[in-house]
Amino acid sequence: MVDTLSQMLNFLNKVSEYTREAISAGNYLLQGLSVTFDHMRRRPVTVQYPYEKLIPSERYRGRIHYEFDKCIACEVCVRVCPINLPVVDWVMNKETKKKELRNYSIDFGVCIFCGNCVEYCPTNCLSMTEEYELATFDRHSLNYDNVALGRLPTSVTTDPSVQPLRELAYLPKGAMDPHEINPAEARAGKLTSEIVDWMKNNSNQNSTKNKTKDSDKQGD
Ligand code: SF4
Ligand code: SF4
Repeated sequence: MVDTLSQMLNFLNKVSEYTREAISAGNYLLQGLSVTFDHMRRRPVTVQYPYEKLIPSERYRGRIHYEFDKCIACEVCVRVCPINLPVVDWVMNKETKKKELRNYSIDFGVCIFCGNCVEYCPTNCLSMTEEYELATFDRHSLNYDNVALGRLPTSVTTDPSVQPLRELAYLPKGAMDPHEINPAEARAGKLTSEIVDWMKNNSNQNSTKNKTKDSDKQGD
């Protein structure tokens, strides 16, 4: 009798242990499925590169463009560069007593694209482009001379083999496809142009308030 009772208890213990494990496994399964279902509701953020490309922002700091004819070989770009990267190759013409520019190069394998050289160049012969595809098999070929630097940048919007995508993160609510969206449709987030407009309006309002305050003080 005692043996039967202990066998029963043993069996019941095993059943309860099994049930607990089954419930815990079910919980894990539901947790995994919740992550899957959560992703199904999200907007797509994938670009089918290289057939589709995002249009870089206006202030994107890509490959530097250089205009040889405008350069006066002052070397300001070298002095302001955190790693003294640009190489300005010039000789002094003893007759004219002026610098003669021979070559100019920037190694994009080392450049950190901070834009200091562009910011401080006195003749504006440097500019940052939207070009970001600099991948190469040989890192030494990233050392661009004045000819390579003078090449006009490729543009996502003018390349006929590419579908340019804009504002992927700002699709209208519920839209899952970034193509052929009505531009008038309300977006989930603020577009860059809308933020700029808002900032302009805000600064205008602030300046009007300040003027009113100044005139009130003068009136006092
Ligand atoms: S700062 Fe401008 S002008 Fe002067 S050397 Fe550099 S690129 Fe040329
Ligand atoms: S972008 Fe910055 S790191 Fe690159 S060359 Fe200009 S100053 Fe130097």
